[in-house]
Amino acid sequence: MIIIKTSQEIEILREGGKHLASILYKIKEKVAPGVSTKDLDTYAEKLIREVGDTPAFLNYRPAGARVPFPASLCVSINDEVVHGIPNAKRILKEGDIVSIDLGLKHKGLFTDMALTVPVGHVSAVNQKLMEVTKEALQVGIDVACAGNTVGDIGHAIESFIHSQRGKNKNGQYGIVEVLSGHGVGRAIHEDPYVPNFGKAGKGEKLVPGMVIAIEPMINEGTKNVTLKSDGYTFRTVDAKNSAHFEHTILITERESEILTKL
Ligand code: MG
Repeated sequence: MIIIKTSQEIEILREGGKHLASILYKIKEKVAPGVSTKDLDTYAEKLIREVGDTPAFLNYRPAGARVPFPASLCVSINDEVVHGIPNAKRILKEGDIVSIDLGLKHKGLFTDMALTVPVGHVSAVNQKLMEVTKEALQVGIDVACAGNTVGDIGHAIESFIHSQRGKNKNGQYGIVEVLSGHGVGRAIHEDPYVPNFGKAGKGEKLVPGMVIAIEPMINEGTKNVTLKSDGYTFRTVDAKNSAHFEHTILITERESEILTKL
C-alpha cells in the first residue's frame, strides 16, 4: 500500500532529510586512504545520535535476512554494489570508489540517501562511472512529478544509461535490476518499488504527498550481481566496479522536492 504523507509528516521528513544530508556529507569528508569502513560507520552513528536521531539500518532485518544488519552505514567498495557491512579490517585504498548509504529516523519518520565517493585519486573510468550514475539519479528525479508513473522514472534512467554506452570504451553500463528504489517515510522500505528500468507510463501513478527513494545502481560491466556469503553484500559477478547514488524525494504538483539536501 502506498502511504501519502500528511503536511505535518512532510515537515518532519524535510527536517530529517536535512540532518541526513548534512551527516552524509560529513562522512564523505572522512573518506580517505587508510580509513576503515568501520571507522566510517562509527562516525555515522555518532553524528546521528548527536542530533537526537536514530540509525535506520542498525538492527534492521529485511525480509529473508538471517540476521539483522549490524551497522548504521552501508559501505560498499568497488565491485560491491550495496549493503556492504563495515569492518575494522577493511581499509580504504587510494583509487577505490566507495558507496556510503545511510538512513535515519527523525521524530519517527525515515529518510534514505547514498553517495559514491572517490578514495584519493581514481581512474578516469571510475570517475566517469560515478558521474554517469549521479546524473542518472537526477534524470530520474526530473521526471518524478505528479501525473507521471514509477515506470516513467525507470524508463528515463534506463534511456539515459543506454545513451551513455559506447561513450566509455571500458564499460557497457549494466543497470542493476534485482534491487530498486522504494517508498520511504513511516518505514525505511515502503511501497512502491521504484526500479531503475521500465516502460514509460507503466506502474503506479505518482501523486502529491508520495515520498520515494530513487537509487540507481550502475555497473561498469554486466548488470548481474550476486549476494556474498555474509548475506548482505551484493557484488557484481564480473568483478567490475559499481556506483550508487540515492535521494529521498517528495512528489508535489510541480517538480519533485529533494528532501535529503542541506
Ligand atoms: Mg534505499
